[in-house]
Amino acid sequence: MITIDGSEGEGGGQVLRNSCALSLITGEAFTIDNIRGKRAKPGLMRQHLTSIQAACQISTSDCDGLEMRSSKITFRPGKVVPGEYSFAVGTAGSTGLVLQTILMPLIYADGPSRVTIEGGTHAAMAPPFDFLEKCYLPIIDRMGPTVSAKIVRHGFYPRGGGKIVIDIDPAPLRAIDCMDRGELISRSGMMKFAGIPFDIAERMIKASRKTLTDWREGAFIYRDLPDSEGPGMAILFEAEYENVTEVVAGFGKIGVKAERIGKSTAARIAGYIGSTAFAGPYLQDQLLLPFAIAGGGKFTSVKISQHTLTAADIIERFTGRATRFSKLDDGTHLVEVGG
Ligand code: AMP
Repeated sequence: MITIDGSEGEGGGQVLRNSCALSLITGEAFTIDNIRGKRAKPGLMRQHLTSIQAACQISTSDCDGLEMRSSKITFRPGKVVPGEYSFAVGTAGSTGLVLQTILMPLIYADGPSRVTIEGGTHAAMAPPFDFLEKCYLPIIDRMGPTVSAKIVRHGFYPRGGGKIVIDIDPAPLRAIDCMDRGELISRSGMMKFAGIPFDIAERMIKASRKTLTDWREGAFIYRDLPDSEGPGMAILFEAEYENVTEVVAGFGKIGVKAERIGKSTAARIAGYIGSTAFAGPYLQDQLLLPFAIAGGGKFTSVKISQHTLTAADIIERFTGRATRFSKLDDGTHLVEVGG
């Protein structure tokens, strides 16, 4: 039984999600206390509860302590059973983060699965659907499995109500190296808005264009979603390279000027384009789990995040595989998993 202090390191939900995934794959039981101990509202929130319930439902596992605000759970893993599953967070809690919990175990199951998840698809502090579809899943596919993602409905904070469907055709993950992003193919910006006046969306785009001055006029697209999917808005910048696509997102927030969100999100994609790193700041921590399960691999990235250090620590506890970090001469960071 592995014992984890959920307040260590980054101290958030990622510790829980990675632990459930690793437990299902390695067969090691774990107990975690001080769950999300470094968050303002510690303990299990709806999104985490749904993630762990999903891990139990796709398998014959059992878990003690599964209730809202719980600060301790004990998870005993069982066999993963592929099939058709549906999960609903019930809030704007992230559909992508529920997927993060069960994707690797289902990739190691002995048959295909279809997973439908309802909740938030575009909310802060979680991967937006576009990131999963264009940045994260293409790399998983390159490692062996075929995972396709479809968005049926968008769901913004605070209402949620989004829906995604993921088809998983399993295959063992093979180790890959992601050292070179390749040539730049395209740069684009997508403004998704629902139930929000067009002029607010336009102001966000206009502010971002003051930073992205060398992007062509037609690179900025507006997608006016049905009012029923809102209210909410997200600005999504995409830099497509031969070997990786980075997706950077900014989310509309009451009380924060559209211009400010447009400007800061534009600065983040410009920062990524200006570096030579393969993985942006969020892909970085999300690659560690598949790489470790594959038995190794390496990639370059931007500054190492606390989420990444914490993921590396949890992975080492379950698999014994260590991750090494070093700074390269061009200012990027080399991440070597499981050497
Ligand atoms: P936690 O804060 O522990 O719940 O973990 C949040 C997870 O969401 C991490 O894996 C982050 O990499 C990921 N994440 C947060 N914001 C974004 C974003 N804008 N794009 C992609 N992934 C994100």
